[in-house]
Amino acid sequence: MTLVDETDLGTDLDRVVLTEKEIRDRIAEIAAQIDADYRGRDLLLVGVLKGAMMVMADLARSLHLPVTLDFMAVSSYGSGRRSSGVVRILKDLDESIEGRHVLVVEDIVDSGLTLSWLVANLRSRAPASVEVFALMRKPDALVQDIELRYVGFDLPREFVVGYGLDCAERYRNLPFVATLTPQAYRRLAAGAG
Ligand code: 5GP
Repeated sequence: MTLVDETDLGTDLDRVVLTEKEIRDRIAEIAAQIDADYRGRDLLLVGVLKGAMMVMADLARSLHLPVTLDFMAVSSYGSGRRSSGVVRILKDLDESIEGRHVLVVEDIVDSGLTLSWLVANLRSRAPASVEVFALMRKPDALVQDIELRYVGFDLPREFVVGYGLDCAERYRNLPFVATLTPQAYRRLAAGAG
């Protein structure tokens, strides 16, 4: 795979949806809100692997509050791109969250099924609070009325890659978010690489 940038997308990427600068500026705005909202409180950021790795790293560095970081990995059973809401924990948190203020950091929320399960699971552990920051939100999440305290961007119903998001594990390392050409999507989703 050739290295691509925002001006030369190569043959597999179709269109830039969020530039590196747009993402950086929006995360800085949200970090300022979080700094104000959680002032004087003990905040734990919980990143959902692998997709949230980029937003977690950039948000954490944009905050002025002292925070701690933990990660969970979950797998959602479902066919293809649709999640089912039936979730298995692949990696749990390292620390107890009892009595703590938890902010779940998510890359993208589509149906919100995975997130709803995750929030309910975390709430059952007696934290002081659980809120969610999703960098990107798809229209179905709006219809489902998924409660997100902070949202970076509302995107149309299209499959996107980059900034942590993959297609068959590729493109996570792009610093921007883009759509794939239909041909590339079909080829990668079919496992042809
Ligand atoms: P949900 O349970 O909200 O339907 O699914 C959320 C998960 O589906 C996200 O964490 C992400 O892993 C995946 N997902 C949803 N939309 C996209 C997309 O446009 N691109 C990629 N690469 N993954 C997506």
